[in-house]
Amino acid sequence: MKTVNDIDFKDKKVLIRVDFNVPLNAKMEVTDDTRIRAAKPTIISVLEKEGSCILMSHLGRPKNREEEFSLKHIVKCATEVLGVQVKFVEDCVGEKVEEAVAELQPGEILLLENLRYHEEEKLGDWEFAKKLADLADYYVNDAFGTAHRAHASTAVIADFFPENKCFGLLLASEVENLNKVLTTGQPPVTAIIGGAKVSSKITVIENILDKIDHLIIGGGMAFTFIKAQGGAVGSSLVEEDKQDVALDILKQAKAKNVEVHLPSDAIIADSFSNEAATDIAAVNNIPNGWMGLDTGPETNRVFADVIGRSQTILWNGPVGVFEMENFAQGTIKLGLAIAEATENGAYSLVGGGDSVAAVKRFQLDDRVSYVSTGGGAMLEMLEGKQLPGIDALLK
Ligand code: AMP
Repeated sequence: MKTVNDIDFKDKKVLIRVDFNVPLNAKMEVTDDTRIRAAKPTIISVLEKEGSCILMSHLGRPKNREEEFSLKHIVKCATEVLGVQVKFVEDCVGEKVEEAVAELQPGEILLLENLRYHEEEKLGDWEFAKKLADLADYYVNDAFGTAHRAHASTAVIADFFPENKCFGLLLASEVENLNKVLTTGQPPVTAIIGGAKVSSKITVIENILDKIDHLIIGGGMAFTFIKAQGGAVGSSLVEEDKQDVALDILKQAKAKNVEVHLPSDAIIADSFSNEAATDIAAVNNIPNGWMGLDTGPETNRVFADVIGRSQTILWNGPVGVFEMENFAQGTIKLGLAIAEATENGAYSLVGGGDSVAAVKRFQLDDRVSYVSTGGGAMLEMLEGKQLPGIDALLK
């Protein structure tokens, strides 16, 4: 895998696809700069080698050129995070952009306007990709968050740089870390899959069964498995039409010698609210009108024990409605067990939107081995798919 570490960028213009799709508040201020900080090592590496950076990104889902999606709102924050004044140009292709690029000196950064102001970006348009490519000597992709998209700036553009293209440091480390789970993970390997629905995780589970020893299933999706096995789950979240799939996953796991751990007890509530009355119940004996919103104490002990015996741990999806304080304990205990296992030498990777939010909220992000920045991209890698943004760099 060729990265920015392998290239001499002296006096070269380097077009970097970053993921600056950051959240903004009503005053158009960046409220979470994680993605900008994640791209910093690649940008600084190019600048230190006396190259110049042309940064391109999307922001949100503009239909026309709505001002709220302008990357100009990011300039102040990016300048602070990167420690270098970020210049900005009001488009990503065209004469104005070419002029700004021509003026760009080694050590400088130019941020282009939102790529998605042009519909050609998402269409993967060849002409548009060529216009972008013509701006620079090198192409670097560091946007893991969009690596699963075959867009102009994430995949098509790479064809214009048969030699002069490489991985950014973030993208490279995302791929390396996922491989630590999927190909080189030390056994026992444990995957914890939680979240709301089975339907969004079926392909992931099926693909990883060949690579794991233990599968912990939690969250709303566990109830489809419990009901499929004949349990009474009250009004817990169930995907009625996925019960056969759930039984099939259990069958496949057995055939592949994967030990499946489903919850045995749950914190139940009489409504989907933090103010609801709560109780503890066996997961297959939940009274009518009550729903399971978190794992119970016995389940938490069993899950922690399995995690404590694991050498490689993958976590995707919370095991309860962790956004509500009264149903957060299962996810907190699980996160703590992963942190402790990591401190004892296990390798742990946390990824997917909500589990990342959970480790951050409970301040466990520094206590796991790696936190992935890409939700959809990570899930597609776990599903065993080839990502267009990564393939394009390897061609
Ligand atoms: P996902 O995006 O599929 O990973 O789902 C994450 C969401 O699942 C979070 O917002 C959790 O609140 C939700 N969740 C976790 N456990 C449950 C549960 N027992 N019932 C309903 N929703 C849940």
